[in-house]
Parts: sequence; C-alpha cells; structure tokens
Amino acid sequence: PNQQRVEANILLLGAHNVGKTALTVRFLTRRFIGEYGDIESIYSRVDRVDGQDICINIWDSQVTVSSSDKQLQWADGMVLVYDICDRGSFDVIRQQLHLIRRSRKMSSVPVVIVGNKRDLQHHRRVSGEEGHLLAQTERCGFFEVSAAEAYHGVLLVFHRLVDLVRETRALR
Ligand code: GDP
Repeated sequence: PNQQRVEANILLLGAHNVGKTALTVRFLTRRFIGEYGDIESIYSRVDRVDGQDICINIWDSQVTVSSSDKQLQWADGMVLVYDICDRGSFDVIRQQLHLIRRSRKMSSVPVVIVGNKRDLQHHRRVSGEEGHLLAQTERCGFFEVSAAEAYHGVLLVFHRLVDLVRETRALR
C-alpha cells in the first residue's frame, strides 16, 4: 500500500527584518529571543497534527523575491511573511506571490500569508482587510500574529500549512 509521506518542507519568504527567524525560533522553541543572526539553515521539528506524526522541515530563507529554483522545488508549502508596520514588505510578498502563482510548476503550492508584529498596532501601515483580501484573491491562508508576544498564533500558522500540504497531496 501507498504509505503517506510524513514530512513537510516549509519555505519562509519575505523581506528582511519582517520576523522570519523570530517566527521559526518561536515555533521551534516557544521562545522569543529578540535578536537573531543571519544564518540561513533548515530546522526540523516532529509534531503531531490531526493524530499523525509529521516531520516539519523549515527553511528560513533570508531571500525576498528572487528565490532560487532549488528552494522553490524543495518546498511543499510556503509561509510568506510581511511586517504590518512596513508597507514595502507587503509589496514584496505580493510580488513573490504573483511569481509563484504564475509559475507552471508552483501555481498550486499551498501558501499561508502572515502579517507579523501585530503587537505594534500603533505603527500599523497595512490593514488586516488588505492582507485578508490578498489571501482570498490568491487562494492562501492568512494570519496576523506576533512572534514577540505569543506562541499559539505561530503554532496555528505552521499547522494550517501542514493541513494544506496534506490536502494537496491527497488530491494528487
Ligand atoms: P528576518 O530578517 O525576517 O528573519 O527578521 P528577524 O526574525 O531577524 O526579526 C527582525 C527584527 O524584528 C528583530 O529585531 C526582532 O526582534 C523583531 N521582531 C520579530 N518579530 C517581532 C514581533 O512580532 N513584534 C515585534 N515588536 N518585533 C518583532
């Protein structure tokens, strides 16, 4: 019988400084450290999602729009991160998303859009509605979170993406 693959490769994309590493570290360790180096690497965590153990591999890419084919082909799912206080970072993921959706190979890859730094409401430059609308138009999941303040929302992001990866595999 065809055993289901129990790994999910997740690529994080987005502008510099939006909190990609903070989200990764929060997910892996439940902690927020504050300052992070620019070490690009792949991290893994085994998690139980919907009663099944799954190895979640996360590539915290430190690249913005021109991600390499290698990264894109590796990914089963993507998290596109922007900072709700930085409109430029929203434009970056919008551009990235258009590239992905228009590429023949990548057009159906599951994507979750994340507006990070929700704790900085008073500096907000991108409304929740805008994020939501982009996600709806491009058939993506959407969350606003704060890697600095809470673990739970970050957990939901990764688990939602794992669900979408599984749904996509089941359709193949
Ligand atoms: P990356 O370049 O996208 O990997 O961004 P980092 O994870 O290195 O974070 C960039 C900066 O934003 C760091 O100074 C973090 O402490 C800060 N940061 C990350 N997430 C949050 C958040 O949710 N709220 C706030 N206030 N700061 C954050």
